[in-house]
Amino acid sequence: MKHDAHPLAPGSWLGLLGGGQLGRMFCMAAQSMGFKVCVLDPAADGPAASVADRHIQGDYLDKEKLRELGQLCAACTTEFENVPAQSLAFLREHCIVSPAPEAVAIAQDRIDEKAFAQRCGLEVAPYAPILGRADIDGLADESLFPGILKAARLGYDGKGQASVANRAELHDAFLQFGGVPCVLEKRMDLEHELSVVVARAFAGETVAYPVAENVHRGGILAVSAVPARIDPALALRATEATVRMAHTLEYVGVLCVEFFILADDTMLVNEMAPRPHNSGHYTIDACVTSQFEQQARVLAGWPLGGVQQHEPAVMLNLLGDLWFEGASQVAREPDWLQVVKHPRAKLHLYGKREARPGRKMGHVTVLGDSLDQAQGLVRRIEADLDRPVGAS
Ligand code: ADP
Ligand code: MG
Repeated sequence: MKHDAHPLAPGSWLGLLGGGQLGRMFCMAAQSMGFKVCVLDPAADGPAASVADRHIQGDYLDKEKLRELGQLCAACTTEFENVPAQSLAFLREHCIVSPAPEAVAIAQDRIDEKAFAQRCGLEVAPYAPILGRADIDGLADESLFPGILKAARLGYDGKGQASVANRAELHDAFLQFGGVPCVLEKRMDLEHELSVVVARAFAGETVAYPVAENVHRGGILAVSAVPARIDPALALRATEATVRMAHTLEYVGVLCVEFFILADDTMLVNEMAPRPHNSGHYTIDACVTSQFEQQARVLAGWPLGGVQQHEPAVMLNLLGDLWFEGASQVAREPDWLQVVKHPRAKLHLYGKREARPGRKMGHVTVLGDSLDQAQGLVRRIEADLDRPVGAS
């Protein structure tokens, strides 16, 4: 669908629901092309609000605030999937909205998301929806244990998940989650975790970034290396699957799909994100067009930018744990010179005021002549940042 207002001229207002680091990097990319950005975020001084041209402080469900955003902005998007789809639907009465609320709604619910992946002809890990006690008692498939119980909605960074070895543990975990709708997923032996970021424009034109190879620690993304060191045929399968999901959804915007790869090369869809993704942060420093610039281009009805990668890149997440000495509670500022002293290491900090263990505070992208070289430097930076500040 094309909009009469497209293409938007620089100086136009773009609106953003959500105020975290993804929003911050979107603001910076959109502003560098001359757009103005207004952020709706309940927090007083979140990462995006502190760089946005305007901040409307309020709840995502507050119709007055949504109207104010929709009337100011020519087009609006979201920076995280936990923004209620109905807020996007409401905004659509006032301005251009992408992605569509219907697409966001699917990504918001693990049960719908898995069913959607299967409708696209793709495989997912064996699972069962757990909506109530009856689903636990009636669970026929013992092979789902050991498994992971995941709340169907509102999870991120491994939150809202519990490992369960048997029916009794499943029962306890379900109660602990307050009886909300969940999925029980079989714990798989993962050979690789991959992700693919694509951007799809209003007219359907689609571009795909190189495949990222991801390492998670404790359910949180730790490192992404790109391009993934995998069989090119597997990279192609993952890319085609992501493009297929985007086309089937008639998706407009930036979309990321996470995959599990098993030892026999079976490819399972894990989940999708209707927005730029942490594993795509490397695109800022390593690609012609960052995933955030791409998000702004789509919203503005501009042509998509090139997705070519200049150099192999490894991205390291900086979690709040680094702001504490060892495992202690003693706060410190990490020694950033240990990062920026390397000319091919690029530091990104999100300006979050409070560091907490497991909280994403920033990332480093290291560029290299080869992925191995970049990985080597990432290991060194990780070790240097872990050392007590002042020690050499
Ligand atoms: P989140 O929304 O928190 O990213 P995910 O479902 O992607 O939730 O889970 C986070 C990480 O936990 C995954 O990237 C993977 O490393 C691990 N994980 C999740 N589900 C499984 C599974 N079924 N088998 C093995 N590992 C899993
Ligand atoms: Mg995930």
